Amino acid sequence: MIAVNLLKVKGSIPTDVTLVAVSKTKPNEAILEAYLTGQRIFGENRVQELVDKHEELPKDIEWHFIGHLQTKKVKYIAPFVSLIHGVDSFKLLLEINKRAKNEDRIIDVLIQFHIAQEESKFGFDFEEAKEMFEKKEFADLENVNVRGVMGMATFTENKEKVQDEFRTLNNYFEVFRSHFFKYNEDFSIISMGMSGDYEIAIGEGSNMVRIGSTIFGARNT
Ligand SMILES: *Cc1c(COP(=O)(O)O)cnc(C)c1O
Repeated sequence: MIAVNLLKVKGSIPTDVTLVAVSKTKPNEAILEAYLTGQRIFGENRVQELVDKHEELPKDIEWHFIGHLQTKKVKYIAPFVSLIHGVDSFKLLLEINKRAKNEDRIIDVLIQFHIAQEESKFGFDFEEAKEMFEKKEFADLENVNVRGVMGMATFTENKEKVQDEFRTLNNYFEVFRSHFFKYNEDFSIISMGMSGDYEIAIGEGSNMVRIGSTIFGARNT
């Protein structure tokens, strides 16, 4: 079923939209089934689970960390993670830079924005991000590459609201790109959209979707 679901999802998104298959809580066999259809990008939101899966599964998988990342755990994923979606504080970004330097790497990251109504979701607001981008210490970071933005919409049936929130994130992306990343072509990713709302997100300019349950089935946890 996973292979079938995956091919269906792939068929429903434009070829220039990157699919992150969100495999959190799912066993290695499920990931391998997706892998055998050609999928190489997987998303996880728990550090220990990601470390274990990275050790056990094929080495050409690109692992994305999509959840809330605690500063003290950055060191465990720094050797191999290929994109960290949820940078929600300058302190976290500094830590990623430090650990990347120790590993002699440059780690790609996205800045997470709080666009939803729910308080439970993490992320910067516009002003906070602007303040960070203006810092000299931000410009000095050599081992992180800010590739774009990420956000999660409110969990609601109200499509207009979801659409509105995604549009807001796209606007932030454009404003920040033109002010702070004008000469940096790497700043190009808008990660938004999950199983329940990825079509809306793509309509609002998403070029990276993070899809779990539609591919792997419902999660128990
Ligand atoms: C779990 C998760 C997803 C995938 O959610 P589905 O609804 O299963 O597609 C996407 N993004 C983040 C940040 C997640 O934690």
